[in-house]
Amino acid sequence: MSIATNIRKIERSLPSGTRLIAVSKTRTPAEILEAYSTGLRRFGENKVQELVAKQPVLPSDIEWHFIGHLQRNKVKLIVPFISLIHSVDSQKLLATIDHEAQKINRVIPCLLQIFIADEETKFGLTEEEACTLLSSEEYSNMLNIRIAGVMGMATFTMDEDKVGMEFRKLKDFFNYLKNRFFQEQETFGEISMGMSSDYPLAVEEGSTLVRIGSSIFGERES
Ligand SMILES: *Cc1c(COP(=O)(O)O)cnc(C)c1O
Repeated sequence: MSIATNIRKIERSLPSGTRLIAVSKTRTPAEILEAYSTGLRRFGENKVQELVAKQPVLPSDIEWHFIGHLQRNKVKLIVPFISLIHSVDSQKLLATIDHEAQKINRVIPCLLQIFIADEETKFGLTEEEACTLLSSEEYSNMLNIRIAGVMGMATFTMDEDKVGMEFRKLKDFFNYLKNRFFQEQETFGEISMGMSSDYPLAVEEGSTLVRIGSSIFGERES
């Protein structure tokens, strides 16, 4: 099936409150343009070097999302053009984003990546760390970032009950943060969860952003 057919099929299955991000890591600019030609404008990358190589050669109205582990010394390379950073996993990283954004007078929307899986390899903040961050004086002085919601990755397993439970946990934590820290702030609204293997479950549990790669472009070689 073609990239365009895959995108249409996925988009038809999403409710109106859920937007699709095409995860284009490892894909060529030509493949990305094929997806772009369907009208899709949101693309996600997980490596800074790859993103900064692609961004200048692709249309400027693409909304780039950063979804991978972000090293602090590379923040300045993406801050000029990034639309949303999904993967804030430490207060230090958030401070660096704020600092670099201030230099160029931008406000960068960010999601807190919350640890929901039981795999040790995945990055993220615990719920407690997220609350500590949002309660800190340092955070209250960050004027060039805006926390727009949360992101999470479920355990890689066929056990749908487990995956569904992890997504529900993220949704509950989102609601908790909204009540405690973002009351009446419309700008705290995103729950980024769901990939090719599990997005129908994530949508059921209230995902607003699904990050889908292989179901659009085919299996990755690397
Ligand atoms: C690669 C990746 C995805 C997409 O994975 P697929 O299985 O190809 O849909 C989603 N989120 C993150 C953080 C990723 O690194």
